[in-house]
Amino acid sequence: MAVNIVLLGPPGAGKGTQAKRLQDQFGLIQLSTGDMLRAAVAAGTPVGVKAKAIMAAGQLVPDEIVIGVIADRIAQPDARNGFILDGFPRTVPQAEALDKMLAQKGLRLDHVIEMKVDDGALVERISGRFACKKCGAGYHDRFQPPKRAGVCDNCGGTEFVRRADDNAETVKKRLDEYHAKTAPILPYYRAKGALKAVDGMAEIDAVTASLSAILRGAAGAGVRA
Ligand code: AMP
Repeated sequence: MAVNIVLLGPPGAGKGTQAKRLQDQFGLIQLSTGDMLRAAVAAGTPVGVKAKAIMAAGQLVPDEIVIGVIADRIAQPDARNGFILDGFPRTVPQAEALDKMLAQKGLRLDHVIEMKVDDGALVERISGRFACKKCGAGYHDRFQPPKRAGVCDNCGGTEFVRRADDNAETVKKRLDEYHAKTAPILPYYRAKGALKAVDGMAEIDAVTASLSAILRGAAGAGVRA
């Protein structure tokens, strides 16, 4: 099923966790600009050099850089099978650029889904998260610990990493950026009649079920935004 989806929501809403599950369930690819930018920083590419300090400060990387990154990625043949955008768009100009680049390729967005989460829950959600160094599987100290402490459920890896920007101070800045620059894209999509919402405060499995229902086109799926 080649559907193209945008997952919207503040940092810590569960976009990455859910995108990975939908990727496995529906054969779509997760396109996370955060992951792409972190890879660019780690590789020391020109994009990475420009983005590094901005990301560490919890600010948004300039639109033209991120739009270029996502345009290159969407041009890859595997994106034709359907994708889940996670962390993009994050500003109205990014949303407009996305519409243009998809139209040029004869593609469109099938679902734009907001994951609604209370701000108060986000700092704990973000500051507890970590990932397997080897396979990238995501965990949380409290909400989703590995079945065996210190061992990745997915690949058996024993080394874990925490994101440099997942500290309380940077999280606050990231939330401010979300409210100031990203939340205004909700009315942009609402005006197009494209916006749906799910309750991101629910259990991880329940959120996956709500998202899957929307993807399968189940009648009445999703909370009206
Ligand atoms: P994320 O992994 O989605 O939380 O993104 C981590 C960081 O990467 C953000 O705090 C921004 O600094 C940067 N970033 C990721 N996606 C975007 C985007 N679409 N626009 C601007 N900056 C972004």
